[in-house]
Amino acid sequence: MPLKRILPILFILFLAACSYEMVSSTPTPVIQPEAPDQPPVTFEAMLTPSPEPFQFSLPTPGAEPITNWRPPLYPVPWAISPYDHFYFLRPIAADQMNWPIADYRYGGVFFGRSIVHTGVDIPSPEGTPILAAAPGTVVWADWGLFRETPGDETDPYGLAVAIRHDFGYNDQQLYTVYAHMSLMNVIVGQHVETGEVIGFVGSTGATTGPHVHFEVRFPNNSFFYTYNPELWIAPPQGWGVLAGRIMDSKGELLQQIEVLVAPERASRTFIVRTYGKGGAVNSDPYYQENLVLGDLPAGIYKVSFEYEEERVQTWVEIFPGQVSYFTFKGSEGFSANRPPAPTLEFLPEDLPPTPTPKP
Ligand SMILES: [Zn+2]
Repeated sequence: MPLKRILPILFILFLAACSYEMVSSTPTPVIQPEAPDQPPVTFEAMLTPSPEPFQFSLPTPGAEPITNWRPPLYPVPWAISPYDHFYFLRPIAADQMNWPIADYRYGGVFFGRSIVHTGVDIPSPEGTPILAAAPGTVVWADWGLFRETPGDETDPYGLAVAIRHDFGYNDQQLYTVYAHMSLMNVIVGQHVETGEVIGFVGSTGATTGPHVHFEVRFPNNSFFYTYNPELWIAPPQGWGVLAGRIMDSKGELLQQIEVLVAPERASRTFIVRTYGKGGAVNSDPYYQENLVLGDLPAGIYKVSFEYEEERVQTWVEIFPGQVSYFTFKGSEGFSANRPPAPTLEFLPEDLPPTPTPKP
């Protein structure tokens, strides 16, 4: 069993990465995406050869009451352009820290391993209610989601719930997943509404601290069909999302590029990385992105990164409630041109302007 050999190593790495927290007698503040230079606080490892979503989220000293109040979220579903699909509420209520942890976003890689993160992690105190992101039917409420073996308490997702939503996308079924629960509040077959409490935050499965691991999946409820939740959860009002596609001159996606996103009129800088390589990470059917940075207040930002030993940069404007988009392709440089306008195939079947009532 490699677990026994690897865990001590991980723990040492954990100590090395987080000695700041360990020696401090006062609780450290809630992890804030605004402060990307803090020590990394979550990581996730694959302890077996298959791509399993192991979680090693460092216990923040129990996420505290929110210190940075944010604007209220746009109501869901929210999509003011046919390009976008903010159909989901966040699984944690708005009076808590309810945004994805910055250091381990979708597509993030655990150390040098080829294990990529298939969701986002929201640290929250044990027992915090977990909310359904949209209406739907519970299709899984048990241990064993990853291996689809009900009752398997060794499964990395721990106690997890999966919901098949009442609406789809691109004519396909949409699912959301909520992992590492301490307790579940639903059973398979039950219909739930947006915001209904489906369970409570815990640290079951492969994790060292309480958080909810949240995934968006389509068209199959499978580990290999996840998409970036930051393109699916509604932003705070007045805020937007940045998506990018960074390629070399041949059009190959560049992995694990560290990208700086700096507001024009503020000193702090956000850091985001392009997706790592992994069969379980997918790009949006429309954007084909390999980088997403959510929860950005509207405004002008400088985007920069190293390419072939040179610093390259462009300016992007973030608009309220929308996705802003850029591409970079090697010697051709940056472009803000979106892909061709999406056709009806990108619109959900149950939302305007394609009102096709079900029999
Ligand atoms: Zn996770």
